[in-house]
Amino acid sequence: MPYKSREKSKIIPNKPTEDQPQEKSKKTPQLLRGMKDILPEDQHYWDFISRRVDATAKTFGFGRIVTPVLEETSLFVRSVGKETDIIEKEMYTLDDKHGSSISLRPEGTAGVVRAYIEHGMLNRPQPVKMFYYGPFFRHDRPQAGRYRQFHQFGFEIIGDKHPVLDAQMLMMTYVFYQEIGLPISLQVNSVGHPECREDYKKVLVDYYKKRKNSLCEDCKNRLQKNPLRLLDCKESDCQVLMQDAPQTVDYLCEECNEHFVSVLEHLDGLEVPYVLNPRLVRGLDYYSNTAFEIWPEVYNPVEEDKDEDEENKEDKDGENANEETEKNIEPVKPSSQSALGGGGRYDYLVEELGGQPAPAIGFAGGIERLINEIKMRHIDIGQPTPPDIFVAQLGDEARKKILKLFSELRKSGFQIAESFSKNGLKPQMEMANKLGVKFTIILGQKELIDGTLLIRDMESGLQETVDYDTIKDELKKRLANHGVRKNSRSTNRSSDNLS
Ligand SMILES: [Zn+2]
Ligand SMILES: [Zn+2]
Repeated sequence: MPYKSREKSKIIPNKPTEDQPQEKSKKTPQLLRGMKDILPEDQHYWDFISRRVDATAKTFGFGRIVTPVLEETSLFVRSVGKETDIIEKEMYTLDDKHGSSISLRPEGTAGVVRAYIEHGMLNRPQPVKMFYYGPFFRHDRPQAGRYRQFHQFGFEIIGDKHPVLDAQMLMMTYVFYQEIGLPISLQVNSVGHPECREDYKKVLVDYYKKRKNSLCEDCKNRLQKNPLRLLDCKESDCQVLMQDAPQTVDYLCEECNEHFVSVLEHLDGLEVPYVLNPRLVRGLDYYSNTAFEIWPEVYNPVEEDKDEDEENKEDKDGENANEETEKNIEPVKPSSQSALGGGGRYDYLVEELGGQPAPAIGFAGGIERLINEIKMRHIDIGQPTPPDIFVAQLGDEARKKILKLFSELRKSGFQIAESFSKNGLKPQMEMANKLGVKFTIILGQKELIDGTLLIRDMESGLQETVDYDTIKDELKKRLANHGVRKNSRSTNRSSDNLS
């Protein structure tokens, strides 16, 4: 039966059918522009980030929420704001089969707020604290380190507007990056509540109107549609104008001012360092009062004296993993463009989306950017642990028996590597060496007859014959000893090490 079914599957793809012309099936499908595969060798970075997000969120009492990647388009239009690049140009929008417009989520807060309203979370003890991570989609111009499917994690506190919550959110974000070991700065500002923001917008528009001729084309457009975005412009002429532009904090009403002062006092009390940044406004419409961003410090690559292992390792994966980061190694001036993430208060969003008023604050951080920073700065996130044991065989009979041993050891919880399809001992030992296993078990003709196994300590090179039946106990004992030996030499290997 297996033979027959295999033959069948061999034939079918070559037979042209009506809805699958042969010509078409020959073209190899390719990755979409702006998209990226995350390969197995890069996975430990992603695991590391998700572990750190989980750990941070849980110590601050946040529960994880997973919302769908597809939502009604109107959710994003109403939350992110019509006059933004995201809504105007970047959203993946399609009609579903019933003709309603749906979109791939371009950011995370809108979905979380929809869920908060839809599940009646207002009736739970307030505030509700939630975190998320996952893929998001923006049909952006592809550029180094930015993808159309990208990943973010985020923290949200919904249902209370006490300034201590702002301080908690800022502290949580700060410690998240600090505990990873990234040198960052926390940039803070207040954009006020909608009314004081309107006052500010007027002054800002007045200021720029008088200088309209020096503005870039984009900014002339922004002046009409979304004047706050004028402060985000990268063009050097616009940057010069920005220097003397009015500052949001000068236009805060008494209440907004008090709130902001209180947030800063709490941060001082927590000894969380921050930089007051009067030009910081966030691009999305829904922000009010506290706005903040995490900027990486300037990276000055110094030729460190690397040890041999490290250098070898880099040669190996330099081709794929480090490619982008190694290329743009020249110091980049920190700015909103290089921000690792940002957030702020969104006190009116829940109401805007049809819920009872529920003030809130949140943060979202990019994962691709964070991984780039970690690679570029050679931050130690711990190496993936190699398997403990390699099983090697000589000949067909031994292969049968070693397959069974593999299965038993695996069930007992050992991490085992193998190369069942190889015949000679040499290629198998080479592989065991390359993997960095602690012990290799060898089953040859002699051991097969004697009912024994050879166990080789890969570090010392010593080999011993042991009874087949005692192998599990032998391995347990030796691995335990090995652990003791390792620990007494090197401490502090844990990747989750918190200071
Ligand atoms: Zn401009
Ligand atoms: Zn105000």
